[in-house]
Amino acid sequence: MADAAEQQERLTGAAAERLKREVLGIPDPRKHQQRAARPLKGHPKEPGTQQRAYRYRFYPTDAQAEQLVRTFGACRWVYNEGLALRVKAWEEHHVSLGFAETSRALTGWRRAPETAWLADVSSTVLQQSLRHLDSAFSRFFKGAAKYPKPKRKHRSRDSATYVRTGFRWHEDPERPGTALITLAKQTEPLDVRWSRALPAGVAPVKLTVTRDRAGRFFLYVLVEERVAPLPTAFLPGTDAPKAVGIDLGLTALVTLDDGSTVDHPQLLKKHKKKLARLQKELHRKQKGSNNRGKARLKIAELYASITDIRKDSLDQLTTRLVRENQVLVVEDLAVANLMRTKRLRNSMVDASWGTLLEMLRYKAAWYGRTLVVVDRFFPSTRRCSACHTKGERLDLSVRSWTCAACGAVHDRDGNAAVNLRDEGLRLYRLVAQALPPDKNPPSIIRASGLPECVTAV
Ligand SMILES: [Zn+2]
Repeated sequence: MADAAEQQERLTGAAAERLKREVLGIPDPRKHQQRAARPLKGHPKEPGTQQRAYRYRFYPTDAQAEQLVRTFGACRWVYNEGLALRVKAWEEHHVSLGFAETSRALTGWRRAPETAWLADVSSTVLQQSLRHLDSAFSRFFKGAAKYPKPKRKHRSRDSATYVRTGFRWHEDPERPGTALITLAKQTEPLDVRWSRALPAGVAPVKLTVTRDRAGRFFLYVLVEERVAPLPTAFLPGTDAPKAVGIDLGLTALVTLDDGSTVDHPQLLKKHKKKLARLQKELHRKQKGSNNRGKARLKIAELYASITDIRKDSLDQLTTRLVRENQVLVVEDLAVANLMRTKRLRNSMVDASWGTLLEMLRYKAAWYGRTLVVVDRFFPSTRRCSACHTKGERLDLSVRSWTCAACGAVHDRDGNAAVNLRDEGLRLYRLVAQALPPDKNPPSIIRASGLPECVTAV
């Protein structure tokens, strides 16, 4: 039975405008027009540059920490209110609100006596929170993400983004690549540990301040810089581009087409022991007590350091792969996920795969490499890499198999990696040949974005 609401058309034009005003509590049309939406335009990227984020730890003073905690709370509140407003507008009136309308509502909240505390936080920071909400909706409409959910204290990461007008930036002439940074609504510059220098002379596009569950504060500096592409990586003695097939797996994090593997960053033994001890301690403490809070913090600190170790090892692995190869071939993450049953689901594995692919994507773009994402219809596991005969579907427990047609014996993951490399290289050549001679192949080729006649095997 079709729902009446589903049949209802999306409202547009004057009727929608009237309803939007109603939802936003702006009754006067004249006032509505005066408050015409002036969305902050996204920052256009300079041609030939790459956006790159640098992360630094910083140590806020008590006053700064307190102000930041209020800012995080306000960002979360505004995000959730904006979400509720958009849901309500759609459910009750069938109008869809965008960034501009929620931003107008924000002006109202900042003026309302019951939410006057919002005025203590920079308005551009709160607007960024609505911008994040808007992108969450865009990703949902594109089918790339689930429906946006409210942010919860202690569950969602604390975060606030400052655009160019939200902070002062004075590069230190004595120490190029470092700067004195003062955030909006703060008086003192931040005490930043400059673990590495920024490229000299860059001015950041925006700053994001976060606090993780272990209570550590981080500053992400987004800059635009010219990253020099690496020289093309050829197969030794030829002019053929060097390619690598990367199979994501559970037994090994990745298996490469030469048969080598890289293990999942494991919870180190000593971490495991320590974690067990801390958890025991936690359970002994009284609920709601100060000591329980302290025990919880220790666990969060341990997890934070494990996350850092994992990120570092993925960073090294992806840098090596991108340096050594011109073409990097992976399967769609959705396929990798399909392979697994619920029992095998593991958030650490999920996070590692996601981070790995993301790092490959942006490093390929920085260094002039090409990442090929092979289609989910490509039978990378079942195909014999020697004779290309498609074999039987393999159970997850089967680690090696023999091709019925040619008798080749295959390691499950190594065979998949060879298939990925060959297929990726085939697609890369097709795309490269179709380009004018002075054009370089793109930094990412998705098989799902190519015409079907090309991808059918
Ligand atoms: Zn075969």
